[in-house]
Amino acid sequence: MVHLDEKLQPILTEVLRRNAGEPEFHQAVHEVLESLGRVIAKRPEYAEQALIERICEPERQIIFRVPWADDKGRAHINRGFRVQFNSALGPYKGGIRFHPSVNVGIIKFLGFEQTFKNALTGMPIGGAKGGSDFDPKGRSDAEIMRFCQSFITELYRHLGEYTDVPAGDIGVGGREIGYMFGQYKRLTNRYEAGVLTGKGLSYGGSRARKEATGYGNTYFVQSMLATRGLTFEGRKVVVSGSGNVAIYTMEKVQSFGGKVMACSDSNGYVVDENGIDLDLVKEIKEVRRERISEYARLKGTGAHYIAGGSIWDVSCDVAMPSATQNELTGKDARTLVKNGVIAVGEGANMPTTPDAVKIFQEAGVLFAPGKAANAGGVATSALEMQQNASRDSWTFDQTEARLAVIMRGIHDACYETAEEYGAPGDYVLGANIAGFVRVAEAMRALGLI
Ligand code: GLU
Repeated sequence: MVHLDEKLQPILTEVLRRNAGEPEFHQAVHEVLESLGRVIAKRPEYAEQALIERICEPERQIIFRVPWADDKGRAHINRGFRVQFNSALGPYKGGIRFHPSVNVGIIKFLGFEQTFKNALTGMPIGGAKGGSDFDPKGRSDAEIMRFCQSFITELYRHLGEYTDVPAGDIGVGGREIGYMFGQYKRLTNRYEAGVLTGKGLSYGGSRARKEATGYGNTYFVQSMLATRGLTFEGRKVVVSGSGNVAIYTMEKVQSFGGKVMACSDSNGYVVDENGIDLDLVKEIKEVRRERISEYARLKGTGAHYIAGGSIWDVSCDVAMPSATQNELTGKDARTLVKNGVIAVGEGANMPTTPDAVKIFQEAGVLFAPGKAANAGGVATSALEMQQNASRDSWTFDQTEARLAVIMRGIHDACYETAEEYGAPGDYVLGANIAGFVRVAEAMRALGLI
């Protein structure tokens, strides 16, 4: 880790003390503080009024019990979280994650990242994240519904279109958002469409929302490649994961002429020498809700499944980690660099470990941090809020065109900010500073709150 500026080190020390045992949150804060030394050297007013300390401290953290009954009538308890991190730019906004690894530190790191990501979109949304340690794997539809209803029965009092607007994340997709919206509507007796995003098209959702994170990351990497006169055409691409983000990354990469070699789930990865057959992945993941190992079984020739191991052993020009945090390690980065990778775009939140980021940057690999590259999802959530507020519904093309403009804007903001602060090509620094400055400007204007 880089040594921090003398004004910033005590802030990090205090964050570590106050949030003991939360390594992902420490990692996310450390990475942002590393970038801020250059800002406060140039703009010392951003270090006044404990502004950076305030940005590192969530405005509110809600932890609650989620009781629910399984199909056999047995009672279970999970823990629910919502960390409302920062509302200087707008109502709290960020996804809900259902995964056994969820704890307060994970949700805090995600809420912190979300604050800067949302600022980068240029839309009026603050940052938050929520979730539960509930494991949806193997649960029936009825169990999922009861869990979502119980989760919202506690959380609904903290939500609202002007207060806090959740969406999906790992383990939470259209089905779960539907059950949550139904319960919110029932409890409040209000058809408040703008309280949740990622809704189905039949009840106020936005076209292109489902595709937005993956498409957006692909647009971002396309812009990065263009700075070196390169394109996706004929490039080998590896996309980890096989959830919503991964599926629509693969779709866009293929439409840009790239060849997707491999994708994965938490059990293993599948390689297809002919390029991944996306219809088959969609059938397995979206319809059957099965494991990716099924792909090799159903596809036969050309495809093989590797249980365990690292998907980053598969040689590629572009790597798009789209599964989960810290999934791409220093060892993986060295393998990718050895195999000639030219660009990395983070579809997931913080999927690359700090040492891996350094390895890519030192090797001259174009590296797009998630808070910039995967912002297309939340940006399109803001477009969904906009459609809900005006009781309107846009076409797919109209919505995707807005997304493309927003992603280009984020790319250019990161690129230009990195240049302005003396680190050309460093998208990590560019994203951290550009996001920070937007939040910091608003916080300074709002006074000591
Ligand atoms: N969970 C997504 C993210 O990490 C989307 C959040 C949202 O749309 O509010 O940005």
